[in-house]
Amino acid sequence: MHSNIIQLLFLDSIKNRIEHLETYRIDHKLVIDIKFKKEQLQCLICQDQMKFHSYRLKQIHYGITSFEAYNIQYQSRRYKCPTCGKYQSEINPFGDKHKNISRLTKHAILQDLKTPQRTFNDIATQYYLSSQSVIRLFDQAVDARRLKLGRILCMDEVFISKKRKSPYACVLYDFDSKQIIDVIPTRHKNYLNQYFLHIPIDEKDRVNVVIIDRWESYKDVLEKAFPKALIAVDSFHVIANLNRAMDRVRIDTMNRFKLERSKLINNDMYY
Ligand SMILES: [Zn+2]
Repeated sequence: MHSNIIQLLFLDSIKNRIEHLETYRIDHKLVIDIKFKKEQLQCLICQDQMKFHSYRLKQIHYGITSFEAYNIQYQSRRYKCPTCGKYQSEINPFGDKHKNISRLTKHAILQDLKTPQRTFNDIATQYYLSSQSVIRLFDQAVDARRLKLGRILCMDEVFISKKRKSPYACVLYDFDSKQIIDVIPTRHKNYLNQYFLHIPIDEKDRVNVVIIDRWESYKDVLEKAFPKALIAVDSFHVIANLNRAMDRVRIDTMNRFKLERSKLINNDMYY
Protein backbone atom coordinates (compact mmCIF):
# COMPACT_ATOMS: atom_id res chain seq x y z
CA MET A 1 0.00 0.00 0.00
CA HIS A 2 2.78 2.39 0.91
CA SER A 3 5.27 1.16 -1.65
CA ASN A 4 5.24 4.39 -3.71
CA ILE A 5 5.73 6.58 -0.65
CA ILE A 6 8.46 4.27 0.61
CA GLN A 7 10.29 4.60 -2.70
CA LEU A 8 9.83 8.37 -2.85
CA LEU A 9 11.19 8.75 0.66
CA PHE A 10 14.15 6.41 0.08
CA LEU A 11 12.93 4.02 2.79
CA ASP A 12 13.30 0.81 0.75
CA SER A 13 16.05 -0.61 2.92
CA ILE A 14 13.85 -0.59 6.04
CA LYS A 15 10.46 -1.32 4.48
CA ASN A 16 10.21 -4.72 6.20
CA ARG A 17 10.50 -3.08 9.60
CA ILE A 18 7.67 -0.59 9.00
CA GLU A 19 4.34 -1.44 10.56
CA HIS A 20 2.58 1.83 9.86
CA LEU A 21 3.46 4.94 7.85
CA GLU A 22 1.56 8.18 7.64
CA THR A 23 2.47 11.63 6.30
CA TYR A 24 0.91 14.97 7.18
CA ARG A 25 1.77 18.66 7.01
CA ILE A 26 2.22 20.78 10.09
CA ASP A 27 3.69 24.34 10.12
CA HIS A 28 4.92 24.08 6.50
CA LYS A 29 6.73 20.91 7.36
CA LEU A 30 6.09 17.40 6.09
CA VAL A 31 5.99 14.96 8.99
CA ILE A 32 6.64 11.33 8.16
CA ASP A 33 5.14 9.40 11.06
CA ILE A 34 6.42 5.85 11.28
CA LYS A 35 5.72 2.94 13.58
CA PHE A 36 8.08 0.01 13.51
CA LYS A 37 7.17 -3.62 14.14
CA LYS A 38 7.90 -4.88 17.60
CA GLU A 39 11.24 -6.64 17.78
CA GLN A 40 12.53 -9.52 19.82
CA LEU A 41 15.57 -8.08 21.55
CA GLN A 42 18.07 -10.11 23.50
CA CYS A 43 19.92 -8.62 26.43
CA LEU A 44 23.56 -7.97 25.52
CA ILE A 45 24.70 -9.01 29.00
CA CYS A 46 22.68 -12.08 29.97
CA GLN A 47 21.18 -13.00 26.57
CA ASP A 48 17.69 -13.07 28.10
CA GLN A 49 14.61 -11.99 26.15
CA MET A 50 13.98 -8.28 26.85
CA LYS A 51 10.53 -6.93 27.70
CA PHE A 52 8.93 -3.77 26.30
CA HIS A 53 9.30 -0.92 28.79
CA SER A 54 8.27 2.44 27.28
CA TYR A 55 8.16 4.67 24.20
CA ARG A 56 10.37 7.65 23.52
CA LEU A 57 9.54 10.10 20.69
CA LYS A 58 12.36 10.55 18.18
CA GLN A 59 12.34 13.40 15.69
CA ILE A 60 14.85 13.27 12.90
CA HIS A 61 15.60 15.88 10.29
CA TYR A 62 15.07 14.21 6.93
CA GLY A 63 15.81 16.89 4.32
CA ILE A 64 15.69 15.37 0.85
CA THR A 65 14.14 18.28 -1.00
CA SER A 66 14.51 22.05 -0.88
CA PHE A 67 10.77 22.47 -1.37
CA GLU A 68 9.90 22.05 2.31
CA ALA A 69 11.33 20.62 5.53
CA TYR A 70 10.85 16.89 6.08
CA ASN A 71 10.82 15.40 9.53
CA ILE A 72 10.62 11.75 10.45
CA GLN A 73 9.07 10.97 13.76
CA TYR A 74 8.61 7.64 15.44
CA GLN A 75 8.04 6.27 18.90
CA SER A 76 11.20 4.42 19.71
CA ARG A 77 10.59 1.44 21.97
CA ARG A 78 12.70 0.92 25.04
CA TYR A 79 13.15 -2.58 26.34
CA LYS A 80 14.19 -3.75 29.78
CA CYS A 81 15.90 -7.00 30.69
CA PRO A 82 13.87 -8.79 33.40
CA THR A 83 17.02 -10.44 34.77
CA CYS A 84 19.70 -7.73 34.97
CA GLY A 85 17.51 -4.63 34.56
CA LYS A 86 19.49 -3.23 31.63
CA TYR A 87 17.66 -0.94 29.16
CA GLN A 88 18.04 -1.07 25.39
CA SER A 89 16.36 0.99 22.65
CA GLU A 90 15.26 -0.35 19.29
CA ILE A 91 17.68 0.30 16.45
CA ASN A 92 17.38 3.74 14.88
CA PRO A 93 17.72 3.11 11.13
CA PHE A 94 17.95 6.79 10.16
CA GLY A 95 21.03 8.06 11.87
CA ASP A 96 23.55 7.71 14.61
CA LYS A 97 22.67 7.60 18.28
CA HIS A 98 21.63 10.99 19.75
CA LYS A 99 21.82 12.63 16.29
CA ASN A 100 18.74 14.35 14.90
CA ILE A 101 19.91 14.66 11.30
CA SER A 102 19.42 11.58 9.15
CA ARG A 103 22.32 9.86 7.41
CA LEU A 104 20.64 10.49 4.06
CA THR A 105 20.50 14.25 4.70
CA LYS A 106 24.11 14.29 5.89
CA HIS A 107 25.22 12.52 2.75
CA ALA A 108 23.30 14.95 0.51
CA ILE A 109 24.77 17.96 2.36
CA LEU A 110 28.32 16.65 2.04
CA GLN A 111 27.77 16.07 -1.69
CA ASP A 112 26.56 19.67 -2.08
CA LEU A 113 29.52 21.00 -0.10
CA LYS A 114 31.84 19.58 -2.76
CA THR A 115 30.81 22.45 -5.06
CA PRO A 116 33.22 25.27 -4.17
CA GLN A 117 30.68 27.98 -5.04
CA ARG A 118 28.19 26.77 -2.41
CA THR A 119 28.34 28.44 1.01
CA PHE A 120 27.42 26.97 4.41
CA ASN A 121 24.58 29.47 4.65
CA ASP A 122 23.18 28.65 1.25
CA ILE A 123 23.17 24.90 1.97
CA ALA A 124 21.71 25.45 5.45
CA THR A 125 18.76 27.32 3.89
CA GLN A 126 18.23 24.54 1.35
CA TYR A 127 18.01 21.84 4.03
CA TYR A 128 16.14 23.89 6.66
CA LEU A 129 19.04 23.71 9.09
CA SER A 130 21.16 26.32 10.86
CA SER A 131 24.54 27.26 9.33
CA GLN A 132 26.15 26.04 12.56
CA SER A 133 24.74 22.54 11.96
CA VAL A 134 26.12 22.47 8.43
CA ILE A 135 29.53 23.70 9.63
CA ARG A 136 29.52 21.01 12.35
CA LEU A 137 28.76 18.30 9.76
CA PHE A 138 31.56 19.56 7.57
CA ASP A 139 34.04 19.61 10.46
CA GLN A 140 33.08 16.07 11.52
CA ALA A 141 33.37 14.63 8.04
CA VAL A 142 36.27 16.52 6.51
CA ASP A 143 39.78 16.02 7.72
CA ALA A 144 41.49 19.11 6.32
CA ARG A 145 45.16 18.17 6.36
CA ARG A 146 47.92 20.74 6.68
CA LEU A 147 49.86 21.51 3.50
CA LYS A 148 53.65 21.23 3.47
CA LEU A 149 55.59 24.33 4.48
CA GLY A 150 57.23 26.26 1.65
CA ARG A 151 60.25 28.55 1.60
CA ILE A 152 58.32 31.65 2.74
CA LEU A 153 55.71 31.27 5.47
CA CYS A 154 53.18 33.99 6.30
CA MET A 155 51.31 34.00 9.59
CA ASP A 156 48.41 36.17 10.69
CA GLU A 157 45.23 35.88 12.72
CA VAL A 158 41.60 36.09 11.77
CA PHE A 159 38.72 37.05 14.06
CA ILE A 160 36.23 34.19 14.49
CA SER A 161 33.81 35.01 17.31
CA LYS A 162 33.70 36.74 20.67
CA LYS A 163 31.90 33.70 22.09
CA ARG A 164 34.87 31.41 21.59
CA LYS A 165 37.42 30.84 24.33
CA SER A 166 39.93 32.07 21.83
CA PRO A 167 38.29 34.69 19.57
CA TYR A 168 41.12 34.62 17.02
CA ALA A 169 42.32 31.76 14.82
CA CYS A 170 45.80 31.73 13.38
CA VAL A 171 46.27 31.32 9.63
CA LEU A 172 49.41 29.93 8.00
CA TYR A 173 49.81 30.92 4.37
CA ASP A 174 52.33 30.05 1.67
CA PHE A 175 53.77 33.16 0.03
CA ASP A 176 54.72 31.48 -3.28
CA SER A 177 51.76 29.19 -3.94
CA LYS A 178 49.28 31.66 -2.35
CA GLN A 179 47.58 28.76 -0.58
CA ILE A 180 46.42 28.43 3.01
CA ILE A 181 48.65 25.87 4.72
CA ASP A 182 46.56 25.49 7.85
CA VAL A 183 44.15 27.26 10.19
CA ILE A 184 45.09 26.86 13.85
CA PRO A 185 42.14 27.27 16.29
CA THR A 186 43.97 29.72 18.56
CA ARG A 187 46.95 32.08 18.56
CA HIS A 188 47.80 31.19 22.14
CA LYS A 189 51.58 30.95 22.59
CA ASN A 190 51.67 27.52 24.28
CA TYR A 191 49.37 26.03 21.70
CA LEU A 192 51.49 27.38 18.84
CA ASN A 193 54.70 26.10 20.44
CA GLN A 194 53.17 22.64 20.62
CA TYR A 195 51.85 22.90 17.06
CA PHE A 196 55.26 23.68 15.56
CA LEU A 197 56.93 21.01 17.70
CA HIS A 198 54.91 18.40 15.81
CA ILE A 199 56.22 19.51 12.40
CA PRO A 200 59.31 17.50 11.31
CA ILE A 201 62.61 19.39 11.68
CA ASP A 202 63.71 18.87 8.06
CA GLU A 203 60.43 20.42 6.88
CA LYS A 204 60.93 23.44 9.17
CA ASP A 205 64.53 23.79 7.99
CA ARG A 206 63.31 24.43 4.45
CA VAL A 207 61.61 27.66 5.57
CA ASN A 208 63.88 30.64 4.88
CA VAL A 209 61.60 33.54 5.76
CA VAL A 210 58.63 33.93 8.09
CA ILE A 211 56.41 36.98 7.66
CA ILE A 212 54.27 38.11 10.59
CA ASP A 213 52.59 41.15 12.11
CA ARG A 214 54.00 42.78 15.25
CA TRP A 215 52.29 40.39 17.71
CA GLU A 216 55.08 39.68 20.18
CA SER A 217 54.07 36.05 20.86
CA TYR A 218 54.46 35.12 17.17
CA LYS A 219 58.04 36.33 17.23
CA ASP A 220 58.83 34.28 20.37
CA VAL A 221 57.18 31.15 18.99
CA LEU A 222 58.74 31.41 15.54
CA GLU A 223 62.27 32.18 16.74
CA LYS A 224 62.09 28.93 18.66
CA ALA A 225 60.47 26.91 15.84
CA PHE A 226 62.51 28.32 12.93
CA PRO A 227 65.93 29.28 14.37
CA LYS A 228 67.49 29.47 10.88
CA ALA A 229 64.76 31.58 9.25
CA LEU A 230 64.62 35.32 8.90
CA ILE A 231 61.63 36.86 10.65
CA ALA A 232 60.12 39.84 8.88
CA VAL A 233 57.20 42.14 9.66
CA ASP A 234 55.09 42.85 6.59
CA SER A 235 54.73 46.42 5.35
CA PHE A 236 50.93 46.37 5.61
CA HIS A 237 51.08 45.88 9.37
CA VAL A 238 53.98 48.37 9.82
CA ILE A 239 51.99 51.09 8.03
CA ALA A 240 48.81 50.18 9.93
CA ASN A 241 50.72 50.44 13.23
CA LEU A 242 52.27 53.77 12.22
CA ASN A 243 48.86 55.19 11.28
CA ARG A 244 47.40 54.05 14.59
CA ALA A 245 50.31 55.59 16.55
CA MET A 246 49.96 58.84 14.61
CA ASP A 247 46.21 58.95 15.36
CA ARG A 248 46.88 58.39 19.05
CA VAL A 249 49.29 61.38 19.16
CA ARG A 250 46.79 63.54 17.25
CA ILE A 251 43.89 62.65 19.57
CA ASP A 252 46.00 63.10 22.72
CA THR A 253 47.12 66.54 21.50
CA MET A 254 43.52 67.53 20.73
CA ASN A 255 42.36 66.40 24.14
CA ARG A 256 44.90 68.62 25.86
CA PHE A 257 43.05 71.67 24.58
CA LYS A 258 39.62 71.73 26.12
CA LEU A 259 37.85 74.08 23.84
CA GLU A 260 34.55 75.77 24.36
CA ARG A 261 32.54 75.18 21.25
CA SER A 262 30.49 78.32 21.87
CA LYS A 263 33.48 80.63 21.31
CA LEU A 264 33.64 81.53 17.68
CA ILE A 265 37.44 81.54 17.58
CA ASN A 266 37.58 77.93 18.68
CA ASN A 267 34.99 76.71 16.21
CA ASP A 268 37.67 75.81 13.72
CA MET A 269 37.18 72.84 11.38
CA TYR A 270 40.91 72.14 11.41
CA TYR A 271 41.02 71.83 15.19
ZN1 LIG B 1 20.13 -8.86 31.12
